[in-house]
Amino acid sequence: MMPPIATQAVVLAEARGPVTVRTFAVPEPGPGQALVKMEACGLCHSDLFVSGLEKLPLAPLILGHEGIGRIAALGPGVGGWPAGQRVGLTFLASTCGNCEWCRSGRERFCARQLNFGYSMHGALAGYAVAPVEHLVRVSEALPAEAAAPLCCAGWTAYGALRETGLSAGQSIALFGMGGLGHLAVQFARHRGLRVAAVDVSAEKLGLARACGAEAEVPADNAGRALQKEWGGVDAAVVFTASPAAIQQAFRGLKRNATLVLVGLSTTQYELAITDTVLKGLTVRGSYLGTRRDLEEVFRLAEQGVVRTHTETHALAETPELLEKMRRGELLGRAVVSCA
Ligand SMILES: [Zn+2]
Ligand SMILES: [Zn+2]
Repeated sequence: MMPPIATQAVVLAEARGPVTVRTFAVPEPGPGQALVKMEACGLCHSDLFVSGLEKLPLAPLILGHEGIGRIAALGPGVGGWPAGQRVGLTFLASTCGNCEWCRSGRERFCARQLNFGYSMHGALAGYAVAPVEHLVRVSEALPAEAAAPLCCAGWTAYGALRETGLSAGQSIALFGMGGLGHLAVQFARHRGLRVAAVDVSAEKLGLARACGAEAEVPADNAGRALQKEWGGVDAAVVFTASPAAIQQAFRGLKRNATLVLVGLSTTQYELAITDTVLKGLTVRGSYLGTRRDLEEVFRLAEQGVVRTHTETHALAETPELLEKMRRGELLGRAVVSCA
């Protein structure tokens, strides 16, 4: 079947401009690319981050980097992808393949990377054009709505847990029980970690408990509570981009522990030098994960080890959903149906 010439898409008109749903031309896939008929796409805090940036590499811009769809057409010379193959689009759209980072399995740090919903048109549309190099194959067994959040929230949460270097029996505090946090709880439990979930919302802490958290800690004074109840934690991962949450996480650490920052923000944060030095702490950032991490995330979801808590909406509702996300009113992950 011939793809249509136009599709509905969630478009950021210009830097800091409004997000609207409008008709957009369906591009032809070029060399190395596929046209993907989108089934569903999750909404991520990074969509808000992108929509608030002062400058954009591409405008107007179709948002979305958490998409599941099927190959509808291939560009010239592209092989190995049967029509109808189910695929996932992540934030990592393409990389140079040749730099120090690409050659060592750390493509996510490639300086020449292109990103869906940032420097390339994204997945919040009926159709998307995608370089095939970073597409992930997705099982027919996973419903599109359940699979979509794995592409960013799942991958990022899994990568951050791996960066902690923890093993079974150790303790972790996870700050922010949104799309990433509720998946991180499940990955951490699967690793045999003791999990304390931290959030400002009692409802989100309830979701964390349902996902297997051992303790639910209100965000105010979480550092002191973690010290008092658990003697501190071996690692903390902060999924929110709040400097206050980073401070609380830092205060909740044991000696020689690791703090991992995940949430994106343009703000600064401060940490105590004496504690960092005398307690031998590690502070690091974590961005996405390896290709192997991504495949592992999908495998664990297929096996039922992790379940995404999603609410599915129509594509047309996306601008309103992004506003709800800004206000912290979404539980789990909001996914929109692109079909
Ligand atoms: Zn994301
Ligand atoms: Zn590279």
